[in-house]
Amino acid sequence: MWFSAFRGGVHPDGFKELSSQLPIKTLPLPKELRVSLRQHAGSEAIPVVKAGERVLKGQLIGRPGEGLSAAVHAPTSGIVTAVEEVLAAHPSGIHSKAVVIEVDGKDEAIPTVATLDPFTMDRAELAQRVSEAGIVGMGGAAFPAAVKLSAATRSKDGIETLMINGGECEPYLTADDRLMRERADQIILGARLIQYIINAGRIAIAIEDNKGEAIEAMRAAAKPYSDIEVVVVPTRYPMGSAKQMIQAVTGKEVPAGGRSSDVGVLMHNVATAYAIAQCLTRGEPLISRIVTISGGAVKRPQNVEALIGTPISHLVEQCGGTSDTPDRIILGGPMMGVIMPSTDVPLNKGSAGVLALNKREVAAPAASPCIRCARCVDACPMGLVPLEMANHARAQDFDGANDYGLKDCILCGSCAYVCPSHIPLVHYFQYAKGEQSAQKATAKRSDYTRELSDAKRERKEKEAAAKAAAKAAKRKPKPAKKAVAEEEDE
Ligand code: SF4
Ligand code: SF4
Repeated sequence: MWFSAFRGGVHPDGFKELSSQLPIKTLPLPKELRVSLRQHAGSEAIPVVKAGERVLKGQLIGRPGEGLSAAVHAPTSGIVTAVEEVLAAHPSGIHSKAVVIEVDGKDEAIPTVATLDPFTMDRAELAQRVSEAGIVGMGGAAFPAAVKLSAATRSKDGIETLMINGGECEPYLTADDRLMRERADQIILGARLIQYIINAGRIAIAIEDNKGEAIEAMRAAAKPYSDIEVVVVPTRYPMGSAKQMIQAVTGKEVPAGGRSSDVGVLMHNVATAYAIAQCLTRGEPLISRIVTISGGAVKRPQNVEALIGTPISHLVEQCGGTSDTPDRIILGGPMMGVIMPSTDVPLNKGSAGVLALNKREVAAPAASPCIRCARCVDACPMGLVPLEMANHARAQDFDGANDYGLKDCILCGSCAYVCPSHIPLVHYFQYAKGEQSAQKATAKRSDYTRELSDAKRERKEKEAAAKAAAKAAKRKPKPAKKAVAEEEDE
């Protein structure tokens, strides 16, 4: 298999060595977990437990909501103290519903049912198990994994290549790197199970060339399987983005607005493949993940295996705490992650990193006017014209920004990274996308309200017509009995 370069991209400083040298650390249980019911793409899960109930590790605590959604499980045993709004992992400081569990320290699990050899099982049944385990894309998007599997099985031309993404191109993050080094066999098993479910012809595992040990470990684990290839790709941000990775590995470009299945590819992250192996061979739902705790303000940066719902303050404390007050807390990587309002937010399934950055790391010179150097255009991996898009977004002309391809922008931040005028281009795009989603939601709500009031008016009109008809029928004189008798005689 070959790789071709995708357009644009940048080479930010990696800072990977901060956390990549130490093995994954298993943490002691925290005192409390706040398991969000909205930590996946789609609608909020619906709680199935109440305050006061005892829950066991692996027990369902939130069933999937309407439409696209995912199940949520108790990460350990304890007492549910509340089902309430808690500070969400969102930059705006909004709250979202969570199941709060006071951990009892016993880590008592629900009994696991012995599983058959999954390679002998029905494919749809396996996809259903992935759905019930609440597995979502763990590279950041948190899209329900079973939905992708089912869509792939329905794909018109089938899936030729299952791609397992071990790119991890964001600076600081090394969670996937350590997972590949330490648990390569399980990732390969997960990849083979996905291949079996979607009936893919082959598996390509793409890893950036700055992860030598991970490449070796994955190659050794893949050796017995002739249809699995480990493809080494150049280190270039945003290599980990699906469209860029697919282009680099297969040479095929996913069309604008299209899906990877349009070019015969299904992509899953290495951590998602690992979670699928745990689910289908051990019956484990998704209740923990590997997460990088790093940044200049963290005393002992390291990767940890943490329970979903653990407050990120606990994660940072377990890495020695901070040496000075962090200037910025980020969930995810510094390029595409989100700035957190505090360390009080819980860890979610899609969070690959928690960064506590110091003053020096976040220092950003003040923005100055655009000098029309076009560096942002050269850096954009989607072939967009960021300076024009930003001009329209700044003027609230979202249609104009859309005409320049805003919908195709993956918010990678490459343009802002290279801008010599330090214009926060990506902030304009985030703002414009957010505003348009909000406008769409408002329009949807008013359509719904209009439909309701139209239906109400129609019903009232029908009721009034029925009443009038009944009244008219009462007023109509009845024929005389004699006349009726005469008519019957005829
Ligand atoms: S990189 Fe910055 S200064 Fe150069 S054209 Fe783009 S927005 Fe303007
Ligand atoms: S943030 Fe959007 S416009 Fe900027 S480089 Fe990335 S894809 Fe291009």
